[in-house]
Amino acid sequence: MHVDIEQARRQLEEMLAELDKSLATLTTQRPESEGHGTPGDADAGLDLADHARASALLQIAQEQRREVLEALQRIENGTYGVCVSCGKPLPEGRLEAKPEAARCLSCQAKVEGR
Ligand SMILES: [Zn+2]
Repeated sequence: MHVDIEQARRQLEEMLAELDKSLATLTTQRPESEGHGTPGDADAGLDLADHARASALLQIAQEQRREVLEALQRIENGTYGVCVSCGKPLPEGRLEAKPEAARCLSCQAKVEGR
């Protein structure tokens, strides 16, 4: 199988741009946590939940951004499309679904402890 590197690079660069946008939004939308919320404020609990959700999203976006950057780095190094753990070529379908994938499914499962 042969991965279309240029297409993957474009895809990854688009993803990176999208992630940068969401990260900027998530960072600026972050509620000021200190001195906020008056006593008896019915929305206080909701604010907290929103804050937790925003932090979780921020974390996911940061993690994905790192994966995308690493994938772009592998394109530069000429190692893109190869599992970073076992060195076998990644199935084409996996890269189509997840261009930033670093590992084949079985290695990924091991890394995730399954
Ligand atoms: Zn592998």
